[in-house]
Amino acid sequence: MSEHTRPHLRDCPFCHADGSNDEKINFMGNLMIYNGGEYVASYSILCADCGVQLHDEYQDELVRLWNGLPKDKEDEEEAA
Ligand SMILES: [Zn+2]
Repeated sequence: MSEHTRPHLRDCPFCHADGSNDEKINFMGNLMIYNGGEYVASYSILCADCGVQLHDEYQDELVRLWNGLPKDKEDEEEAA
């Protein structure tokens, strides 16, 4: 198996390209990016239609960012 498991991705939030079409929304796992003097593993999502890219060290976090799910509510400060 040379292909990575592809997570479910929503349509591009910017140009609405089909998120289930890997030729439009490219998911790339285990890229090595140069960061602060060393190569680190990274996941990327790239929209081939409008060129927007997201990168994250963790696949789950990257998919969550792309799919637009809210972060934990604890991150937000509320003036009760
Ligand atoms: Zn797009």
